[in-house]
Amino acid sequence: MKTSIGWKLGFTYLILIFIAMVTLGSFILEDFQSAYLAATRENLLRYSNVIANKSAPFLREGENHDYLDFLVRDYSEQTGNRIMIINKGKKVVADSAREWVGQELTTPEINQAIDGRTATQVYRFDEYGTVLYLAVPIASGQQKLGAVFIAADINYLVDQVEALRERLVLFGASTGLVIFILSLFLAKLMTGPLQRLYQGVQEMAAGNYGTQVKIKGNDEFTALARAFNQMSEKIAMEDKNRKEFVANASHELKTPLASIKALAEASLGGKLRTEEIDEVLADINQEVDRLDKLTGDLLLLSRIENNRQELKVNVNSVGELMQQLVKKLEPLARQRDIVLELVPGQELYWSMDGDMIFRAMFNLLDNGVKYSPRGATVSIGYHRISEGLIMWVSDQGLGMKASEREKIFNRFYRLDKARSRETGGSGLGLAIVAEIVNLHGGQVLVDSSPGQGSTFRVILPEKP
Ligand code: ADP
Repeated sequence: MKTSIGWKLGFTYLILIFIAMVTLGSFILEDFQSAYLAATRENLLRYSNVIANKSAPFLREGENHDYLDFLVRDYSEQTGNRIMIINKGKKVVADSAREWVGQELTTPEINQAIDGRTATQVYRFDEYGTVLYLAVPIASGQQKLGAVFIAADINYLVDQVEALRERLVLFGASTGLVIFILSLFLAKLMTGPLQRLYQGVQEMAAGNYGTQVKIKGNDEFTALARAFNQMSEKIAMEDKNRKEFVANASHELKTPLASIKALAEASLGGKLRTEEIDEVLADINQEVDRLDKLTGDLLLLSRIENNRQELKVNVNSVGELMQQLVKKLEPLARQRDIVLELVPGQELYWSMDGDMIFRAMFNLLDNGVKYSPRGATVSIGYHRISEGLIMWVSDQGLGMKASEREKIFNRFYRLDKARSRETGGSGLGLAIVAEIVNLHGGQVLVDSSPGQGSTFRVILPEKP
């Protein structure tokens, strides 16, 4: 942004106008000059031929100076040009200025005319300015008698060309100036949003994520500004999520560590009895399990996020997978007095990463058991639909509000922190479910309302 676009644009237009005006101007001047000269030459030729015709008899039958003198002076008066008649010996026999009579006059034009050819040429003299020389032959049949020589003052033509050039220069300069000012103005209009964007980018670079730039109008620049605002908002959100994630992860890691430390300190000093030590060790073991699960979950999420988690897809029996799930959670369910019900389905084989889907379904069933009251039933089942395979987990537990349903898939989000912790949850379970199902190209749907229990449905497409 150091050299303003306005100046660049202005100077570019100026150069373009200069080139256009010089080219156009020289063509116009050239055309104008040659058209004017052609007309003048035509005119001069016409009456010099008349003079030639009239003077021919007088040159043939001895030179009648008086008549020829009258002739040239008469025409000279009518036209304002100097006219001479030259005989074939190149001597001036009549001169409207009566200056060179009797003198020999040789110009290339006179020589040519005496030879029988009309000749014209433009000369520029310091003394007279621009003069057109024109010489036409005087002849009688085949007999060459001399030439009529006209020196026409065409300074008026030069003056007119000069005046036209001045007008063109004036026109070019004023147009250039107007366009220069307009382009500065236009560039200011155009670079205004760019300048705002530049400031926005600077703000972002300084770490002020979420910076928004003002949007005025509806053109490519405003589209860019809109895209910038969206990007900035997204970065701010990502930044916030990242900070929250780090804070949550540290907190979650710190809690079991603090418990372990407290337990270890309590058992130091050898004051505890053997049963008490066993109890402490069992508690420490539980906290270590919790830490192990937490770090495992975090690692898996990070692998998925960095696209390092590849699916090992193979064909799995869905019924078998469900049975294994129930088998694995049966002890916990029994402990909580909860009935696990597997709704039987037709035999179905599906392409998926069996381990990953097992992990996702385990989290759902585990939640069903954890968030249901004693004596409740948690059912699990599957069936095929046109979009693919549905696997569902349904409980008669706490349920949740619509506003909560939107958040439960966020990392570390827990409705009831105390209860979740007490059941060993860290708030990562559903985030992992969502990521695994996403990796398979599927989706998770929740149907739940407070006190009515919840149903989670995982829909997997035919091919992951
Ligand atoms: P957690 O480890 O805390 O269970 P999840 O990510 O699995 O973490 O679940 C997030 C939160 O969603 C839980 O803390 C709980 O409040 C709520 N939740 C999950 N499943 C259910 C369910 N079946 N019934 C009621 N609430 C649930």
